[in-house]
Amino acid sequence: AKSHGRNCFKFFNQQIQKDAERNAELHLRLKTAINEQQFALYYQPIVNPNTGLIVKAEVLLRWQYDGSFVSPDEFIPIAEESGFIVQIGEWVRNQAIDTITTLQKRGLAIPLSINVSTIEFWTSELQQRFLAYFDAKEAEFGAQGFPYSLITLEITESLMMKQLDTINQLLIELRHRGMQISVDDFGTGYSSLSYLANFPVDQVKIDKSFIQKISMGTRHEALIEAIVSMSRALDLSIVAEGVETQTELDFIKQQNIEAVQGYFFYKPMPEHAFFELLAKQAQT
Ligand code: C2E
Ligand code: CA
Ligand code: CA
Ligand code: CA
Repeated sequence: AKSHGRNCFKFFNQQIQKDAERNAELHLRLKTAINEQQFALYYQPIVNPNTGLIVKAEVLLRWQYDGSFVSPDEFIPIAEESGFIVQIGEWVRNQAIDTITTLQKRGLAIPLSINVSTIEFWTSELQQRFLAYFDAKEAEFGAQGFPYSLITLEITESLMMKQLDTINQLLIELRHRGMQISVDDFGTGYSSLSYLANFPVDQVKIDKSFIQKISMGTRHEALIEAIVSMSRALDLSIVAEGVETQTELDFIKQQNIEAVQGYFFYKPMPEHAFFELLAKQAQT
């Protein structure tokens, strides 16, 4: 038993060592990822659960180097630690806005939902930079007008926990310009209902961990029902994330949830496939 324990410890150490090396490598590689054009945006349609029509799409970042994809769940935290997420965030918004412009020209525009890291709102300097980014875009677009109404920003609950006046002010300003604010991964973390009442937001995204428990019993379903009725009371729209099965979809419909995202309908897809899909929908 003793030697077994020692082996475990050795293995554990080796794993930590390996993880640290991987971390360091990703950290280094991330710095050149933008210039070496290793990033791409994927798009996951968000649909009306009753008609199946695409009403919106979430923009999801993909990083590919040496022929393989690194999961955003792995590299986003590293980008956040290094602060590099700020440049990456701006790159994502640039690309997403290009996409909106292209879709507008083809008469296919739908709103895009863009993830924003909490780090991007961390200090008042960063908050100013966030706004200045949109000021510059407005100037660039000039008379034709910047398409604020086609942009939703997804923030997470952890941002709301900061409860800072400045964040409130920033969100008010972003909404004033015509963007929508969505609370991502709702229900995870330390959510308190009072955050929702205090924060100027438009939408709640029910986290996929709740959706995936729908068939596991009435207690889990009751939790979703509570989120739904509370969101309604606060006049927030609702997106159910991670819908994979007919059972899950049926429950969502029963709750009159207006928008659904998940593998049951579509997985995230590259731009050309997304454009083709929208063109096909427009023809019918
Ligand atoms: P998220 O914002 O919660 O995004 C939804 C994630 O759920 C995506 O994973 C999506 O592919 C996945 N998903 C959607 N439908 C289903 C389903 O039916 N079943 C299952 N099992 N999964 C589903 P992805 O693309 O790997 O992204 C992971 C996370 O990385 C995102 O979670 C988000 O937090 C972060 N992320 C992705 N792109 C960006 C970005 O541009 N900026 C920032 N700051 N974070 C991003
Ligand atoms: Ca999201
Ligand atoms: Ca989410
Ligand atoms: Ca997430």
